[in-house]
Amino acid sequence: MASSMTHFEEPGHEALPVYELRLGGSWRPAGDGRTYAAVNPFTDQAWAYAPEATSADVDTAVAAARTALHGPWGEMTGAERARHLRSLATVLEEEAEHLAAIETRGNGKLLRETMAQAASLPGYYQYFAGLADKLEGTTIPADKPGYFMYTRREPVGVVAAIMAWNSPLLLLTWKLAPALAAGCTVVAKPSAYTPVSTLEFARCVERAGLPDGVFNVVTGSGADVGQQLVKHPDVDKVTFTGSTQTGIAVGKAAMENVTRVSLELGGKSAQVVFADAELEAAAIGVVSGIFAATGQTCVAGSRLVVEQSAHDEIVARLVHHAEKIRLGDPVDPASEMGPLANKPQLAKVSALVQRAVEQGAHVAAGGRVSRELGGLFFEPTILTGVRPDMEIAREEVFGPVLAVMRFDDEDEAVALANDTRFGLAAGLWTENVRRAHRVAHRLEAGTVWINAYRMVAPNAPFGGVKLSGIGRENGRDAVQEYLETKTIWLALNEAEGRDPFSIG
Ligand code: NAD
Repeated sequence: MASSMTHFEEPGHEALPVYELRLGGSWRPAGDGRTYAAVNPFTDQAWAYAPEATSADVDTAVAAARTALHGPWGEMTGAERARHLRSLATVLEEEAEHLAAIETRGNGKLLRETMAQAASLPGYYQYFAGLADKLEGTTIPADKPGYFMYTRREPVGVVAAIMAWNSPLLLLTWKLAPALAAGCTVVAKPSAYTPVSTLEFARCVERAGLPDGVFNVVTGSGADVGQQLVKHPDVDKVTFTGSTQTGIAVGKAAMENVTRVSLELGGKSAQVVFADAELEAAAIGVVSGIFAATGQTCVAGSRLVVEQSAHDEIVARLVHHAEKIRLGDPVDPASEMGPLANKPQLAKVSALVQRAVEQGAHVAAGGRVSRELGGLFFEPTILTGVRPDMEIAREEVFGPVLAVMRFDDEDEAVALANDTRFGLAAGLWTENVRRAHRVAHRLEAGTVWINAYRMVAPNAPFGGVKLSGIGRENGRDAVQEYLETKTIWLALNEAEGRDPFSIG
């Protein structure tokens, strides 16, 4: 299998943990024994080796998931599946610190952020456990006499879950918890940059006692392992989180087998600030939206759309906060921003900022790679004077870069906020309650936060409109993504006497 990943030969690799694939009930090295290095973005050093799955490994994982679907897992009642989800929640509670540490080593996110994420995981399994025994069909009065008709909600089948590197276990959980509640089995493929936490997570699933094959993990590159999963004829559903560009390719490839697809993709979310907002609260909210997690979140509030009369004051407040942000080691509790997660990200962010300046944006804060700490740090950056047609106002940066634009009235605010191909989220800051709801209804986004930002919860549907995706995760809607409706007709009478050559 072709790959651009680093391989085993590096000196000192013996000292590092070498992980195996989770295929059915077994831990196994990749079929041809190949591994690649997982690199810690803060130290820029390899810290573990992950298996690079072969196409035979992918087949084995899918077959194991199919066997479990037709075996013990498929035979369970919803209440029994719920018990397994609750057991998993208990194990995850016990393992939260360990999983958070692994996550931070893998993607460089602050430990305080990965700890909060890890601590939130059990709640998702608890919530979906509560839905597992409530997947009810309906009885439909037949439109002609002598028939009984009802529907069943059945699991869609074997699910391939493909995730981005920015929040591997949270993104996995948003797929896995509803999929298991629905009765599906899963083959997970984490990003090639962050393979380890998902393999560690598989240990938790094993400890929780879920039947073999319900949860399988294959690691390796997207172009090889990911693509094979998406095209696999025995995968019934692909649920994908990643960039819009890859998501479109995934959707097209899946359609060759009419495989169902859910897509959670990129964003260019607006933070709309009206002059009547509490400006300090708005400034803190904007900071949280764009600089938390080093801007590497799908919901990053990367466009500030601010009312003309509040522009200078809010920019001054933002610059003040941005310049005080402590960059540092992600495991240091004092750090407020960690590094970007990999070298291509750093190169992309630098290039986008440079081109924005060439196109006329003004750097109000930051704007450069931060050399002091080594590694992959980029300064918290605020660009003013941005026009809506500039690249920096249109393309997802996935880094700590805020593009500031101004508006004169509500209509212009809504037009600017909606002037994007994306539609994942938006923030809205105003003290006027009528305006708050009016504008929230007009914003083209899957989530709108009013006087708040970056809130997610197990029971809050999450997902995008426009190029930000198809489908919803979390909340009751999420289980529907993993169910099919089957309609069953029963003729109540023996002699129907109906015309065999006409429908209905
Ligand atoms: P990416 O699209 O490069 O990769 C995502 C996943 O797809 C990885 O596991 C990768 O290995 C795999 N992949 C790559 N090519 C593939 C192919 N041809 N077939 C199948 N799988 C393939 O994205 P990324 O750089 O890992 O993540 C950043 C992106 O993810 C950003 O655009 C961000 O907005 C988005 N994201 C969205 C959400 C959301 O919920 N909407 C959440 C987090 C991240």
